[in-house]
Amino acid sequence: MNSALQCLSNVPQLTKYFLTSSTNSNSVSRTYSNLLKGLWTTNNTLSTTPALKSLKNAISGLAPIFTDYQQQDSHEFMNVLLNAIQLEHSDIERLFLGKIQSTVICSKCGVPDCTIDDTSFLQLPLPQEKSRLTTISDCVEEFMKEDDLDGQWHCSTCNGLHDARQKSDIYSLPEVLIIQLKRFNHDPNRLDKIDINIDYPLYNLDLTKYVIEKQQQTWMYNLVAVSVHRGQLSGGHYVTYAKNKDTQEWYEFNDEHVTRINDESTVKTKDAYVLIYLRND
Ligand SMILES: [Zn+2]
Repeated sequence: MNSALQCLSNVPQLTKYFLTSSTNSNSVSRTYSNLLKGLWTTNNTLSTTPALKSLKNAISGLAPIFTDYQQQDSHEFMNVLLNAIQLEHSDIERLFLGKIQSTVICSKCGVPDCTIDDTSFLQLPLPQEKSRLTTISDCVEEFMKEDDLDGQWHCSTCNGLHDARQKSDIYSLPEVLIIQLKRFNHDPNRLDKIDINIDYPLYNLDLTKYVIEKQQQTWMYNLVAVSVHRGQLSGGHYVTYAKNKDTQEWYEFNDEHVTRINDESTVKTKDAYVLIYLRND
């Protein structure tokens, strides 16, 4: 919870919205707004503990897995929190929403069938190549790889059930890009963590060549936060690296310990799990 909240709290557009907006109608938005006011208001004497407790309760009401005090998934917490606050704030929704194009190609007639869906996260699979340095681009290419569709496809062109191929593409990307590196294998027969190092840039992550929509000249991103998972799937520990919007300095948030990071290359770690990038424009 701490790791997810410190990541999102350091997204300047989102925090500005909640520090200045007063129309927070659902309980998650209201308590999240109170928490941010406690965290970001200077000379504050307010404790953030009551706001944190209320937020945990509000989130547990939406997602019962967060009711107790077991360790859960930081990305899952972000997902529930963002869904709840986007419901009533279309300005926030716009900040985070990208579009993924899914294509199914019929093996008989070869006619592609495309659908475009909104998503708040770019969930990237990790290619299993330990022989060389794996980059975000490698993960994007893995995500875009054409594959056999499980089962048969009802083709509306030749009107029958046939084998098919499927492919995902990035149609457009949002201003605030949240990348989940899919390190955790939740297959009950093979629960494990994919422990490979993914190289990601702090500045100028260039995704231009992968994006279909050409309204933007370029799709370039700078890193603002990383949710880091150290250790194994069954336990382990979450910390966050995040860049302060006012000072532009990086900090490590490790439970109650907050430490300034002097060498920003520290932010590149093999344990990165969720990366938050802001578009350069
Ligand atoms: Zn067909």
